[in-house]
Amino acid sequence: MIKSLKISIFTMLLLVAGCNTGLSEEQMALHENYEKTYEPAQIGNLEAVPDIEVIDGITYVDGILVVNKDIPLPADYSPGLQPEVIEAYQEMFQAGAEQGLDFILVSDFRTYDYQAQLYDNYVARDGQEAADQYSAKPGHSEHQTGLAIDVGSPDSASNLTVSFGDTPEFQWMKDVAHEYGFIIRYLEGKEDITGYMYEPWHLRYVGEEAAAIYESGLTLEEYLGID
Ligand SMILES: [Zn+2]
Repeated sequence: MIKSLKISIFTMLLLVAGCNTGLSEEQMALHENYEKTYEPAQIGNLEAVPDIEVIDGITYVDGILVVNKDIPLPADYSPGLQPEVIEAYQEMFQAGAEQGLDFILVSDFRTYDYQAQLYDNYVARDGQEAADQYSAKPGHSEHQTGLAIDVGSPDSASNLTVSFGDTPEFQWMKDVAHEYGFIIRYLEGKEDITGYMYEPWHLRYVGEEAAAIYESGLTLEEYLGID
């Protein structure tokens, strides 16, 4: 976000400079390049403009991979659970164990095809409208990124249900997950923004930026300015 803000300020300076006649060719080129890249309405807007890049069909906003109901992944994107995620959750589970807490990994990486099967089963069972509240369409699951995990406790009755939020495991985890690079992705009261019901068990690895996101109390979409 800071980077985007810097770009906006830089642009405003350019625009101010544009009022003078003494622009060098290099400055003019920069200016023109800027105007090609951004909509005029955004010029001079002090709100940070999200830096959105799509590389091989994968969307990054300010360098963070984003998947949601609007932003898909390619069907053939199949990276497996990422090593930094494995390391992070193992460390967090270990730290929890030292507090007498017991975590289990309920689910992690899913392929596009597996998500398609799950989604079809949910639609067959509950109907599409209900299924869309808790399940992603194929290509729209964070589990396909290899950066998301679902965690639970040995009290398996609460796993993958909102009551996981009442377990001692969650009560500890909600305030430390960011120290391990995780955010609770689908927050309570933010259903309109994320498109999903509250999922205390679903963690998304974002790395160092997790702390700032946690402190903000915002969803990933709000934090990145794409809500
Ligand atoms: Zn999940």
